[in-house]
Amino acid sequence: MTPTVRPARLDPRKPLVLDAHELGRRPGTMLRVQRTVPAPADLGNGVIAVSAESPLELQLRLEAVMEGVLVSGTVAGTATGECVRCLDPVTEDVLVDVQELFLHERPAEGEDDEELPLLDGDLLDLEPVVRDALVPSLPFQPVCDPDCPGLCSRCGARLMDDPDHGHEESDPRWSALQALTLTDQNDGTATPADPDRTQEETN
Ligand SMILES: [Zn+2]
Ligand SMILES: [Zn+2]
Repeated sequence: MTPTVRPARLDPRKPLVLDAHELGRRPGTMLRVQRTVPAPADLGNGVIAVSAESPLELQLRLEAVMEGVLVSGTVAGTATGECVRCLDPVTEDVLVDVQELFLHERPAEGEDDEELPLLDGDLLDLEPVVRDALVPSLPFQPVCDPDCPGLCSRCGARLMDDPDHGHEESDPRWSALQALTLTDQNDGTATPADPDRTQEETN
């Protein structure tokens, strides 16, 4: 006896599992599906993602074809993350096109259609299709504003709020103050090296 390999049964209650039952099997028939569903988990990259359970708007066309069901349309949602320069929250509207052919039967090995997903009866799982279309469309380096100047590397101040922000690199008062602070911390027992007082350098 040859064991029959069956795909894992799809759960019709999953938000991105669609039922093509109404469509029927006669090639040429078409069904429009418009619905808002909660987004699956981990729909994004490490820095920006459509958060789980946030709304995904599906505008789809299901078409019966000889081999199965052709799904095409758009998926829209809102991704949230952090500006890579200043760490402020970033919100980005996402709208991607999706298109996939779901087959009634697994094609013979070596055929071009081999990689295509299968229908489970009348059910089809759109989640991998949405994931493949949406995740690569997200920015890898989201910014709150294309001109975001980021944070000061010395003190972490937001440069957007303070365009004139800067530190005097060679202000002698700064090093004097530093020396003073260090002396205080050391109870005056150790004096940090002061470049102005380095001996035997100019002799
Ligand atoms: Zn920013
Ligand atoms: Zn600073």
